[in-house]
Amino acid sequence: MSNPTVATPPMAAEEITTNQFDRAADLLGLSRSMRQRLCTPFREVTVQVPVLMDNGEIEVFVGHRVQHNGARGPTKGGVRYHPSVDLHEVRGLATLMTWKTALLDLPFGGAKGGVAVDARKLSQRELERLTRKFTDRIAIALGPYRDIPAPDMGTNAQTMAWMLDEYSQKKGYSPAVVTGKPVSLGGSLGREEATGRGVMIIMREAARDFGIPWKGSTAAIQGFGNVGSHLAVALSAEGVKVIAVTDADGGVMNAAGLDIAALMSYLKVERTVKGFPGAEPLTNDELWRVKCDFMVPAALGGVITKEDNAAILDCKVLVEAANAPTTPIADKILEERGIVVLPDFLANAGGVVVSYFEWTQNLQQLRWDVAQVNEGLERKMVAAYKEVIALARERNVSMRTAAYAIALKRVADAEELRGN
Ligand code: NAD
Repeated sequence: MSNPTVATPPMAAEEITTNQFDRAADLLGLSRSMRQRLCTPFREVTVQVPVLMDNGEIEVFVGHRVQHNGARGPTKGGVRYHPSVDLHEVRGLATLMTWKTALLDLPFGGAKGGVAVDARKLSQRELERLTRKFTDRIAIALGPYRDIPAPDMGTNAQTMAWMLDEYSQKKGYSPAVVTGKPVSLGGSLGREEATGRGVMIIMREAARDFGIPWKGSTAAIQGFGNVGSHLAVALSAEGVKVIAVTDADGGVMNAAGLDIAALMSYLKVERTVKGFPGAEPLTNDELWRVKCDFMVPAALGGVITKEDNAAILDCKVLVEAANAPTTPIADKILEERGIVVLPDFLANAGGVVVSYFEWTQNLQQLRWDVAQVNEGLERKMVAAYKEVIALARERNVSMRTAAYAIALKRVADAEELRGN
């Protein structure tokens, strides 16, 4: 877990995903009733989360778990701790998970959860109590064949270990009830790096198809947490120059390429990339002006907007490593400007792919080695990318609309077959 800050995105994930849904539903010619079935969440749970704080007072937080659609299998999706969490955001992100699992053809539906809390202000003991209470309150809706949480912004493998323990105390040892666990508790090798690694794979495929020489290409990244930092490591191993990174506290830039190994060591000690020596300081606002091949939002949603930056981005490809980073109007501006957008639920799907591998390993009680995990990840990501680019080119639509159309069709078919 790294440093989420208080920031309200200008447009909620729910509004972003609904708008994008309509375009793809039109392309597929979906009926009104099927649109309703696909848009309406299956189950939403909002809970009170009272936590005994270290000062002896009880603080009350609010948590949500939304299970959007389970036609294709148990619902799957992360749990986020961030002050901006509300039911609308969680609903939008749960919806995105339905499309993501369908696009990657995983046997899951979509869910998301979250607690409105600034996790940085809580001690480890308070975080543990919060996690256990939240798990206790939503446990009735969870299960290895019902709904399987994972980490997201502000949560990590330790959070999943507490969730697993709390759930198992009630139902018996159930490692498959959460993914993104520590490896010693049944987590998968390669899971922690999977989202960043998956983003790199999609960028590499796009570089080839859009004529960008991969080795020596340049990338700028907002967010240096789980996704951003592992992406930077994967990119630098490929010979891509990461020239700018920021996090909640600020950032750094070096046009010759940042030394990512040194930056990772710096981050371990300082808990931020700000102030990293051998680089120029850079603010989050300045980041969007950086000239690069790949601009990668890997922190909050709703950060690419008409008002702030869509017209000034100086990149060839916008890589949506974060969930729902681009507002629909900004998306249109990018399309008009000829900037390729690699949509979130394709670009950042590596995490849920390896979560699926983790779940299957838990159910079969065996462990894959890291090479097997990474080979599986590579295969899944490349297959999904190829399907999306082929449809986008065939129908002359954006990669986002193509990705939605593929996903919607899979879920609609499952809904149809399951009947009422
Ligand atoms: P994280 O909590 O590990 O890291 C978040 C990073 O964003 C931190 O570096 C933080 O400092 C930075 N940040 C927070 N607020 C910021 C701000 N206002 N300006 C600039 N930087 C800011 O979270 P993560 O797991 O890396 O998730 C990042 C994004 O990727 C989220 O949108 C999440 O939904 C998405 N995502 C994560 C996963 C996963 O497996 N972790 C999978 C798919 C999608």
